[in-house]
Amino acid sequence: MSTIAQAVSCVDGYDPDALRVDKAVEAIRACLAPVAGSERVPVREALGRVLAQEIVPSINVPGHDNSAMDGFAVRFADLKNETELKQIGSALAGKPFAQAVNAGECVRVMTGAVMPKGADTVVVQEVCKAAVDNAGTRISIPPGQRVGQNVRAAGEDLKAGVPVLEPGRLLSAADIGLIASLGQGEVEVRRRLRVAFFSTGDELVSVGSELKEGQIYDSNRYTLHGMLRRLGVEIIDMGVVRDDPALLEAAFRKAAAEADAIITTGGVSVGEADFVKQLMAKLGEVLFWKIAMRPGRPMAFGKVGKAYLFGLPGNPVAVMVTFYQFVRDALLFLGGRKPEEIPMLSAISAQPIRKVPGRTEYQRGIVYREGDVWKVRTTGQQGSGVLRSMSEANCFIVVEHARGSVQAGEAVQVQLFEGLM
Ligand code: AMP
Ligand code: MG
Repeated sequence: MSTIAQAVSCVDGYDPDALRVDKAVEAIRACLAPVAGSERVPVREALGRVLAQEIVPSINVPGHDNSAMDGFAVRFADLKNETELKQIGSALAGKPFAQAVNAGECVRVMTGAVMPKGADTVVVQEVCKAAVDNAGTRISIPPGQRVGQNVRAAGEDLKAGVPVLEPGRLLSAADIGLIASLGQGEVEVRRRLRVAFFSTGDELVSVGSELKEGQIYDSNRYTLHGMLRRLGVEIIDMGVVRDDPALLEAAFRKAAAEADAIITTGGVSVGEADFVKQLMAKLGEVLFWKIAMRPGRPMAFGKVGKAYLFGLPGNPVAVMVTFYQFVRDALLFLGGRKPEEIPMLSAISAQPIRKVPGRTEYQRGIVYREGDVWKVRTTGQQGSGVLRSMSEANCFIVVEHARGSVQAGEAVQVQLFEGLM
């Protein structure tokens, strides 16, 4: 048995003609193996890339106990009800005070200054009183201090030898800063995934040409370009390919030779699938699915040569929905990222939503706040060709497989676009 057929056969309840969304996700995942290869990049360039090494600090961060406030470093054991201490010097961030603090003494410290030897506690300057005379400066410390207060311990952020970031992590701005705080200027990341895509359809015209009767501009390739850009993959835009077996075959062969994954739009609906199916069978192993979802029912998935193929429907909204529900996560996984579920939020539906049980629906919605309550309404017209609905929306309202119609006032799950798109 081929790897694809074998992998999907392990998915419980797999039915290509009425495939539940969760089963399709599972089937795709079962077939994927992350691509190999990594590279060293300057740490700033690693933002949004997948970490390929374990980050183990070679130093403590911070490297020394230091003051968290502007104030006076004291020996807690010296403090009584009201205590007068002799100020013997100052320490600034980056300018330590070399001497030790002995009984009855204190040192003025600024935030980030290394704690002088002997001192264990910092009293904030606002509560202290200074008196200057010939003998020098005396600082009066009020009662009520706690031992160790306002001191940041060496290694309290990162400890030498204790791993802090695992491979497979999508590097965030905080991660980049954290790696820099260790003095590491370069970092090992997975190589970028190469993703080729093209649109299929005789009616499609690329931007820049004039429309003839019955033609439309190809928008899917632009939407896809935008969605892929956000994933940080290497993009191979192969343009529009006519519904012509020879041209399609050439396009698939070229894409498979260059890319780790191929995304096509159009040509998988029932009326068109037959000749694409034959072509696919010739070039690789591709499964044709009818997914129990709306929009986005027909979809093809499999392999052409070594490349994974995602054959998305042609309708512009269906392209985006299937991309976010199936392709995005698959590409991240292929690129080496550890799987992470897209967080959902519960919101109150401001209106009834008609729905029949037995499929998952992705309505385009707008979440908004009313007092303390997050509510959601649909963008109106929900046709799978109405791309405006995606543009206006800030979330998908995900109406689950088994659920029927939603009444106004009921809670629904929403998937926010923020962070996703
Ligand atoms: P298909 O899946 O090829 O039958 O296409 C379904 C619908 O989506 C048809 O109305 C197509 O005209 C439309 N469509 C297909 N591809 C694109 C595209 N790249 N840009 C905009 N609309 C498209
Ligand atoms: Mg078509």
